[in-house]
Amino acid sequence: MKINDRITKIVVGENKPDPFKYGGVYPPNVFLVSGKNKSVFIDTAHGKPEEIQKHLSVWESEGKPEIAGIILTHRHGDHIGGAAELSKHIGAPVISTAVEKAAIENESSAVVNITPGDGEILQLGNSTLEIIHTPGHTMGSLCVYLQEDKVLFTGDNILGLGTTVISPNEGDMASYIGSLQKMLNYNIETICPGHGPEIDTPNEKIHELIEHRHQRERQMLELITAGQDSMEHIFGAIYKDIHPGLHNTAKRQIQAHINKLINEKRIEQAGNNYRIVQ
Ligand SMILES: [Zn+2]
Repeated sequence: MKINDRITKIVVGENKPDPFKYGGVYPPNVFLVSGKNKSVFIDTAHGKPEEIQKHLSVWESEGKPEIAGIILTHRHGDHIGGAAELSKHIGAPVISTAVEKAAIENESSAVVNITPGDGEILQLGNSTLEIIHTPGHTMGSLCVYLQEDKVLFTGDNILGLGTTVISPNEGDMASYIGSLQKMLNYNIETICPGHGPEIDTPNEKIHELIEHRHQRERQMLELITAGQDSMEHIFGAIYKDIHPGLHNTAKRQIQAHINKLINEKRIEQAGNNYRIVQ
């Protein structure tokens, strides 16, 4: 599907939200972004053969442009799975952050060839891409900003629908909120997320996501103040009727907030409970 002259969006699988995924997540989006001289892929989905076929047929229908890179927004399998195959077929380097390189290489057969720094520019000929480091969902997550069209490709940093998962083992809540604030420095007209539909009110969306995390934090501080101060208490109060399959993910989200509040010395742990630092 053409988003504009420069951007083609490829959706793999059925393009509707899955209620059993956290936040009601859509299948992954893959983007082919083109300039006068070169193009890039942003993400590669899971890597199923029919997905690779789809990516290659879009590339062929665009006249087989030279691919300057296959940019991976972060380490998760639904974004990197097709990178090795695609790279082999089109002879393109794989690009991601240095922080994400080892995780991507452990979790797939892809080799990350280029690890751009924050703010580095990739020039495609009348299409200028800026790589923006946005840690939080994972510590090496990145966004890509297409300057000419004021489009931000966000991977899982911002989803078309719902809120992204911040897991303490891979991500960090304070970094995530910082990355959302960093995005506000860019003049963005459209967000192309890693899952779900485009967002054409980007600033409102980013503010809403920051406020959602702040609001959750206030709610947790109130619960702790009121003596609802263990993981089970907080989980029970916040996630009243979510599907049992999502319980662990939801608890990891709470843990990510707890870690932030402990680091900021606003709460402390006492056994299985938390208390406000006076
Ligand atoms: Zn992800």
